[in-house]
Amino acid sequence: MSMKIQFPILSMLSSALLIACVFIGADISVHSVEVEFMVSDHVEFSFHPIIHVELPINTLAFFGCQGFCFWNIVATPIEYREQNDFLCILAHELRHSEQWMALGPSLPIVSLLLPIEQDNPSLNWSDIDSFTDGMWQPPQFWPFEFDFLSIKGI
Ligand SMILES: [Zn+2]
Repeated sequence: MSMKIQFPILSMLSSALLIACVFIGADISVHSVEVEFMVSDHVEFSFHPIIHVELPINTLAFFGCQGFCFWNIVATPIEYREQNDFLCILAHELRHSEQWMALGPSLPIVSLLLPIEQDNPSLNWSDIDSFTDGMWQPPQFWPFEFDFLSIKGI
């Protein structure tokens, strides 16, 4: 039996971003990991981690945002950790991560057709759901566009 490991270029890019975040003082934790296991004519494991990066608010403000998402990396301000604002931003960025997982790098193009952003730009910090209002959510059956890492035994 031979083993084939796949680590696509998108995974390399997100890993590079993660390393860059470490260098600018981020707190990093694993938000979740989904593992798929498949048996057919071969055996395959695939991993879909979501990494939560907490960055100083000034760093995020420098890039003109309060949080961001790049595929499996979601970033929120470290100073908001104990506040409701944190949950609002995290919910928003996690929805973006779901969109990335479903659509991959075609997301910016698809965003011309699908509502990727929330429909109400006014921020109601006491209502977490308002931060994902109107944002397209992939249906449950939707497959992952890319595996972060897959190990195939042939
Ligand atoms: Zn957004």
